[in-house]
Amino acid sequence: MRLDNKVAIITGGARGIGRATVKVFTEAGAKVIIWDLLDVAAETAKEFGAEFMKISVSDPQQVQDAVADIAQRYGKIDILVNNAGILRDRSLLKMSHKEWQDVIDVNLTGVFNCTKAVAPVMVENKYGRIITTSSVVGITGNFGQTNYTAAKGGIIAMTKTWGRELGKHGITANAVAPGYIETEMTASIPEEFREQAKKSIPVRRIGRPEDIAYAYLYLASEEAGFVNGHTLSVNGGTA
Ligand code: NAD
Repeated sequence: MRLDNKVAIITGGARGIGRATVKVFTEAGAKVIIWDLLDVAAETAKEFGAEFMKISVSDPQQVQDAVADIAQRYGKIDILVNNAGILRDRSLLKMSHKEWQDVIDVNLTGVFNCTKAVAPVMVENKYGRIITTSSVVGITGNFGQTNYTAAKGGIIAMTKTWGRELGKHGITANAVAPGYIETEMTASIPEEFREQAKKSIPVRRIGRPEDIAYAYLYLASEEAGFVNGHTLSVNGGTA
């Protein structure tokens, strides 16, 4: 599956799953623009021949300005991967309003901001692939993740809505729901839990960032044009 001549924005592309996606997409021939807050994104961009724009997905004006800039320079945006995400885990009884809001602002409103800004450019060009990162816990729920599961579940529903609204413009919208993937985000999970998790995952290993990047690649390809409004689970068979 090739992405030659495709212009792709990857949010949260500095590290983890996003970084692996930058690698896979640039190798497939795409012109990749990373949106991230971390300066290390400049190194990722350099390593893989991508471009870095320091953008917070939770700031609608920054997002809108960046879209205008890319559209002006490239004349189109073919692919948007809404991959940026954060955690602020705490049980419901202890979760603060700030912890709730911070996660909703990035993981849910951030996805809305980016898609809302990019979609008109895709409509104009009569082509688009929108891929958004949900999570297995957006389907199952999870202890300590009221905020995160609300956002990740919301993504699944928004994706179905966008599939219905945008399909007639040559645009597909799909989500990927990763299981447990080894990245900086999950680095603080204790070793004991990691071993337990390995045993409970049917393929008997924890996911790698590339496992998700290749799922994104498929959904970003022209070949996936009849897949729309779908959430693809990539979790080793856990749920
Ligand atoms: P990560 O923390 O390694 O990477 C997330 C990236 O998003 C970072 O580079 C970070 O700087 C960026 N980011 C955070 N807030 C941002 C903002 N406001 N604007 C722009 N960029 C921002 O995490 P990861 O594990 O690579 O996660 C990638 C996606 O996959 C996330 O949406 C996450 O929720 C989801 N996910 C991860 C797992 C897992 O097990 N790692 C499982 C399910 C879903």
